[in-house]
Amino acid sequence: MTYQNFINGKWIKSISSKSVANTNPANTDDVIGEVILSTRDEARAAVDAASDAFRGWRATPAPTRGRIVAKAARLFEDNKEELAQILTREEGKTIAESRGELQRSINVADFCAGESRRLTGETIPSELPLNFAYTIKQPLGVVACVTPWNFPVAIPVWKIAPALVAGNTVVFKPATLTPATAVRIVEIFEEAGIPPGVLNLIIGSGSEAGDEIINHRAVKAISFTGSNGVGIRLYEQASRRGAKVQCEMGGKNPVVILEDADMDLAVESTAQGAFGSSGQRCTATSRAVVVDEIADEFVTRITKRAESMRLGPGVDPQTEMGPSVDESQFNTVLRYIDIGREDGATLACGGSRATGDGFDKGYFVHPTVFDHVTPDMRIAREEIFGPVLSVLRVKNFDEAMQVANDCEYGLSSSIFTNDAARIFRFVDDIETGMTHINSPTTGGEAHIPFGGTKGTGIGDREQGSTALDFYTELKVVYVDYTGRKREGNLY
Ligand code: NAP
Ligand code: MG
Repeated sequence: MTYQNFINGKWIKSISSKSVANTNPANTDDVIGEVILSTRDEARAAVDAASDAFRGWRATPAPTRGRIVAKAARLFEDNKEELAQILTREEGKTIAESRGELQRSINVADFCAGESRRLTGETIPSELPLNFAYTIKQPLGVVACVTPWNFPVAIPVWKIAPALVAGNTVVFKPATLTPATAVRIVEIFEEAGIPPGVLNLIIGSGSEAGDEIINHRAVKAISFTGSNGVGIRLYEQASRRGAKVQCEMGGKNPVVILEDADMDLAVESTAQGAFGSSGQRCTATSRAVVVDEIADEFVTRITKRAESMRLGPGVDPQTEMGPSVDESQFNTVLRYIDIGREDGATLACGGSRATGDGFDKGYFVHPTVFDHVTPDMRIAREEIFGPVLSVLRVKNFDEAMQVANDCEYGLSSSIFTNDAARIFRFVDDIETGMTHINSPTTGGEAHIPFGGTKGTGIGDREQGSTALDFYTELKVVYVDYTGRKREGNLY
């Protein structure tokens, strides 16, 4: 299978001579398809098509646009299992996780479709008699959606659906590692009736096709999810020409566990947060900040839980944790495990690749727990994006807050305690865009805003009541029905 671009309503094979294989990270003998890395000319053609389609789409009533997105939601539902299988095969997450991601995508599309009937503004009384003002929300033009491989269905859908509902046309640049799901997403929008040029897909490398798109003058806004290195560079480039940018980037999400916590719940939730999706969630739990009094017990129990995790290919319904997504990510995880050891952390469990039957051809790493991690160590500060948990021991709640906040990222967090006062102090002071009480750092819902602070996030929150903010401009309209020349108030 060779993945094609979708430009101006047509599936077109790239003429580029550069290509890479899309392989199954659970078994690299399983080659899923050929990914041709599109040329800069092709990327430009996609932007041009989106630019030409803008007038017509902008003039289409918002509820009509919403109806197409609603139809896409139904098609995602009809094709849920097929898409979940593709997702597991190319990205590696377990089939249960893939089904969950598909359901999230359906919910997001449904929610955005509903928003098409609520594209409302304000009416504002004037300080002058026989005057008033109102606001209208208008689309921006061509929007680029640049997405990562770790949620290759949900993240594109939560960008494309609001962009379309708001009346923008879209160029979608998925991660090179996950082209198969990207193609299916676009096929679904095509079947739902999206007009030619309104949604375009370019498969290609970030450094060429991606770079061409984000630097194209017709691209008015870029919604990016991915790593900090890429996101910040993209922000710099696009802001130079005044384009709007939204970046959702890395995380180093802490869970704080206090002495009165429900230990079963804290251990199970931390394991889910740290090892679910092989640690490859932006909201994954990567630091456990635990008070001394219960730290030994916590480490013993989380270690036992980590060692009992069933590793395997995601298609096996018994599997609890799949592989890392590719060789590069796998090597990064193993390198951070070495760094943890060298920096003097105590390896409590894991710490190596999984070998033997069923593992040798995949990128499997044992769930890993480091104890006695200190805040200055690299494994306490840098995003690893693998199944590695760092346990930081602290004296008390105040030190826990300080350690939890001693981090450049600010995506998600959680706390385990039954003390209401400390829960609310935590909520007030924790420097993350999202926080969870007595539940894992992961998870979110389609109708609730999503995103991070500090080094994690730039721009408006995605999803929920804020989903369309980034994709619309506000126009303010002054209406004067006095029929007379204005006296006074001349500012
Ligand atoms: P990435 O390497 O930054 O890539 C993200 C996207 O940007 C890919 O489509 C990539 O294309 C493209 N890209 C790379 N260089 C580019 C350039 N110079 N110009 C334009 N586009 C470029 O991130 P990733 O490895 O796919 O994803 C993992 C990261 O995403 C982690 O840091 C994770 O925390 C973050 N993430 C954050 C959130 C959140 O909401 N905060 C959610 C999920 C993931 P190629 O694939 O071709 O390189
Ligand atoms: Mg792949």
